[in-house]
Amino acid sequence: METSEIRKCKYCDEILPKNSHGLRTFCQNKLESDGSIKSCKDDYNNASKKPKYNMLKGWCMKQWTFYLILKLLYERRKVREIEMTELANYGIDFNYSLFREKVKGENKFVLYYLQYYLLPISETKIKIVKHDRTI
Ligand SMILES: [Zn+2]
Repeated sequence: METSEIRKCKYCDEILPKNSHGLRTFCQNKLESDGSIKSCKDDYNNASKKPKYNMLKGWCMKQWTFYLILKLLYERRKVREIEMTELANYGIDFNYSLFREKVKGENKFVLYYLQYYLLPISETKIKIVKHDRTI
């Protein structure tokens, strides 16, 4: 079927040749002068994956930072009990633990981070405990 409609590449907006297949939405792969192959389809797909990738990367960086803070407090400064506010000042975000577990029979939660978990021992105080649970 003939169509007069001008179709453009979904990624670079280049006009697709009129005789190209009707289902084609990207331009054909091009050989670049440096020998690499430029693929608008791949570039497009990678670009759309990027926000998710960045989010995941951000989350991982956070977990790693929490781990380093807790390690410093626990291993170097031998801190076992600490005020919640103090811990927050160090940069621990209680909303970003790996997971939380309810303490049996009590209305409180243990917050798990990499290699350490935080156990509330009073309204304001928290105990740092080392764990080797695989998460
Ligand atoms: Zn293109």
